[in-house]
Amino acid sequence: MEKIALFPGSFDPITKGHVDIVEKGLQIFDKIVIAIGSNAKKTNLFTLEQRMEWIRKIFANEPRVEVKAYTGLTVNYCNEVGAHFILRGLRSPGDFEYEQQIAFANKELVENVETVFLLSSPYYTNISSTIVRDIIINKGNYSKFVPEGIVF
Ligand code: ADP
Repeated sequence: MEKIALFPGSFDPITKGHVDIVEKGLQIFDKIVIAIGSNAKKTNLFTLEQRMEWIRKIFANEPRVEVKAYTGLTVNYCNEVGAHFILRGLRSPGDFEYEQQIAFANKELVENVETVFLLSSPYYTNISSTIVRDIIINKGNYSKFVPEGIVF
């Protein structure tokens, strides 16, 4: 059976930290579906179309990566695309505390979906979309934080 992992997030915008997690995930899973979810608590800087386009460009040569958008519960979307795994990246103990609660709730909701955490590489631990957005808004040099070829 094909091992499919869903990598859910806002990706507003995608950063080198996200790409690092996808690359590591590809060593474990057959396919990764990068799924941009609508998060009611977050207002986005970039449109859904723009975020999807950048991700497609970055992984244009990687047929095992797909980009999708979804609404509703992440576990329901996993079932829709046949993913038995949710992939999430961990940068800090704070990330873990938050992620653990969500993973437990997801497990209660759907038994057949397992959350898999991958640790951020040390160099990318301090990168977040929030920081990148702040640099973009204030016209700073964001190039170190985002994949090559992505221009805002
Ligand atoms: P969300 O709104 O769901 O947190 P994000 O786009 O911010 O969406 O993050 C998606 C996933 O990528 C999360 O699991 C997050 O922990 C992970 N992630 C974000 N930045 C990094 C990074 N620098 N290193 C490793 N994982 C990261």
